[in-house]
Order: sequence, then structure tokens, then C-alpha cells
Amino acid sequence: QSSGSDEVSKAQNAVQSGTPTIFSKIVDKSIPADILHEDEECLAFYDVNPQAPVHFLVIPKCPIPMLSSATKNEQVLLGHLLLVAKITAEKLGLYEGYRIVINNGPDGAQSVYHLHIHVMGGRQMDWPPG
Ligand code: IMP
Repeated sequence: QSSGSDEVSKAQNAVQSGTPTIFSKIVDKSIPADILHEDEECLAFYDVNPQAPVHFLVIPKCPIPMLSSATKNEQVLLGHLLLVAKITAEKLGLYEGYRIVINNGPDGAQSVYHLHIHVMGGRQMDWPPG
């Protein structure tokens, strides 16, 4: 498990657009993932570097790079991603709560430029986040 500062330096060096990301390869099944939910619009799968006892990601199948590049056209899709996050958290038994995070851009420590919702649970979260 890498430290928070490793994650931040990875994020600062991340490529922001253009090339397909590792998440496109998960969508097209050219690389494996531990998939929790799949439908026509999205996928949920476990994060490879979990920051909590339960840590999964919900991504759209279409490669929106980041939240700030989403438009009104993606309004329904964005709502769907949140509902899938909630339903999957329930399926995994996170009845005591969980944390939802969207890292956006360099200051948000985003490292993969394919929009994703982090869902973390199974422990008490702190506030504020680092
Ligand atoms: P970001 O920092 O919000 O962009 O988060 C990217 C997340 O993707 C990190 O939590 C990584 O651990 C996770 N990640 C990167 N590659 C993979 C993968 O191949 N499978 C699952 N999770 C991944």
C-alpha cells in the first residue's frame, strides 16, 4: 500500500487527457479487475491499492476524463454512478456508512484521467481528509 505522498506525486505527474487510461482497458476487459457490478453504462470494481477495508471504484464505461469535463449531457449518467455506488456499498454490507470521494485534477490528487467515484468503508473515516 503506497503512502499518501506517493499518491500525490503520482497524481501530479499523471497524464490528463488524450491517451486511453488503464480504466478503459478494464472496461474493454483487456486487463482484469475484481468486478462488483456491471451494466450498460458503468462498472464497479475493487481498487488495487485499498485505503480502507472496503475500497471500490465506480466508473462510467465512456471515458469522461474528470468531473470538471462532464456536462449537462452526462447528468443522468452522473446520477446513475452515485446510485450504483450506494447499491454496491449496501451489497457489501457497509450499513454503518462509507465515504465517497471524487478526486478532480492535480490539486484533487487525481491520478487516472477516467472519471471514477471512490467508495471507502469498513472503518471510521477522519475529517478533514489530507
Ligand atoms: P485517483 O487518484 O482518484 O485518480 O485514483 C485512482 C485509483 O485507481 C487509485 O486509488 C488506484 O489505486 C486505482 N487503480 C489504479 N490502477 C488500477 C487498476 O488496474 N485496478 C483497480 N484500481 C486501480
